[in-house]
Amino acid sequence: MGRKVLVTGGAGYIGSVVVEQLLARGDLPIVLDDLSTGHRAAVASGAEFVEGNVGDRLVLERLFGRQTVDALMHLAAFALVAESVADPAKYRANNVAAGAVLLDAAVAAGVRRVIFSSSCTIYGERGAEPIREDAPPAPMNPYGETKLEFEAMLARHAVSHGLQSVSLRYFNAAGASECYGEDHEPETHLIPNVLRVAQGRVPAVDVFGTDYPTPDGTCVRDYIHVLDLADAHVRALDAPLDGAVALNLGTGTGHSVLAVVEAARGVTGRAIPAVLRPRRPGDPPFLVAARGRAERVLGWRPRHSSLEEILASAWAWHRAHPGGYRN
Ligand code: UDP
Repeated sequence: MGRKVLVTGGAGYIGSVVVEQLLARGDLPIVLDDLSTGHRAAVASGAEFVEGNVGDRLVLERLFGRQTVDALMHLAAFALVAESVADPAKYRANNVAAGAVLLDAAVAAGVRRVIFSSSCTIYGERGAEPIREDAPPAPMNPYGETKLEFEAMLARHAVSHGLQSVSLRYFNAAGASECYGEDHEPETHLIPNVLRVAQGRVPAVDVFGTDYPTPDGTCVRDYIHVLDLADAHVRALDAPLDGAVALNLGTGTGHSVLAVVEAARGVTGRAIPAVLRPRRPGDPPFLVAARGRAERVLGWRPRHSSLEEILASAWAWHRAHPGGYRN
């Protein structure tokens, strides 16, 4: 019998692929999403869909009242660094306060396992070494602070209610499955922006900051394929756990902004002009995962995360969906 898994944010970029993989192995995902940034068309037809906000007590009462939910995967959140710098209250209200309502409702309904979409942003600026999970967190923007606060809530629930949880600290999610890809409006992420230029929809890509203390002066990130991210969520349903654990999901290899643009030129065969711009607020220069813990706890390793496979899958999806989910 498949398990009922509540996936908040299941209409979003990563959630849609998580739902796809849950369905593929016979689990029964219930998507809770308010469609503030997600897309109804990104929810696979085999999943139950509930439109609502994770902080809406009435919606949660109904949802948990009519069925037994075996596990919660909490991916619904605002996730833009620059927006969080401009409007921190928006981020605290949704990512922390509404998240707390969800967590309390889930625990009250008997949910014993939570898989949380966390972020490497909680580490902040740490120099040019791969970052281990036990590095002291030091987020440099409100988005990262909200992710850290939710992780702390999970740790408190481990003590007070014996809740088992996995905080999956994603490095830079990228790529697409065959059916589901990245469609944000506005789009702020590097790879979809680069591909918009390749498609001829935008004349040039902005390169934010060329004076960072990195080899070519642009920020270095660890890009991880959304298929690999989703696979870690599915594995986390079954892994033996003791309380609250945090796991990096990254490849251990970093690529600079200019390296991504260059690789995209190779994959797409398009020119992709780039314009050098000042730094974007809140961006740490170097974020690369130290690997090992996710392998040990989940038996997980990235299998699709070469930069070429990431870019080729995203390029295929964007060509098949030139207007994203709107067509
Ligand atoms: N970036 C860029 N141009 C863009 C979008 C992003 O130069 O159009 C840079 C950004 O400043 C950061 C890196 O690319 O250094 C990755 O940014 P993204 O928004 O994709 O992910 P983040 O690391 O902020 O989660």
